[in-house]
Amino acid sequence: MLPEIDRILISRDEINERVSAMGKQLSADLSEAVREDGHDPLAHPDRVVMVPILTGAMVFAADLIRAMPMKLSLRLVTVSSYPGQSTESKGAAMRSALPPDLADRHVVLIDDILDTGSTLRLVSDLVSEQSPASIRTCVLLDKPDRRTHDVACDYRGFSIPDEFVVGYGLDYDGFYRNLPDIVALKPDAFA
Ligand code: 5GP
Ligand code: MG
Repeated sequence: MLPEIDRILISRDEINERVSAMGKQLSADLSEAVREDGHDPLAHPDRVVMVPILTGAMVFAADLIRAMPMKLSLRLVTVSSYPGQSTESKGAAMRSALPPDLADRHVVLIDDILDTGSTLRLVSDLVSEQSPASIRTCVLLDKPDRRTHDVACDYRGFSIPDEFVVGYGLDYDGFYRNLPDIVALKPDAFA
């Protein structure tokens, strides 16, 4: 264990179990939506588009999509809200162009953590402009006490208290994304 880790909040086993269940639920709901459109969810291409919000959602999204036994595709967006050695959101900003082909598709926005809500608010407003068939939001972690933006959270892995966490894709100053557990850092780990 890295010396700067204070404690494990959510273990890799708990994460794996929860992410598998979320994948099952999502694919059941999306398959139903595709059937309601009159298509076969196992066969019809490109009705469902998963949109991980990078960089944080990369690890979560990789596990989540592998728990979804259905036809789907991926589009990536990059948003930054915690530049460098910061643990307070500086407001979300797009760092990449939005995929241009979301019209009439079922879109699932995937993020690592829902905090103030500024990231999901920004991306979902931009996606809406393309008139998708539906938009769902899916996050691994939720800090409900921190919300300042109105955001619907359709799928949530765990609610956590207002504490800065890293691991399983979440970083501090670019590090710790590779930790398999969600952990809290010791105070002296922060510059
Ligand atoms: P929001 O835009 O909802 O305020 O924040 C969402 C983004 O802030 C997340 O995608 C994540 O990058 C970052 N964030 C929020 N809380 C935490 C945290 O506890 N740890 C880390 N590493 N990032 C966080
Ligand atoms: Mg993020």
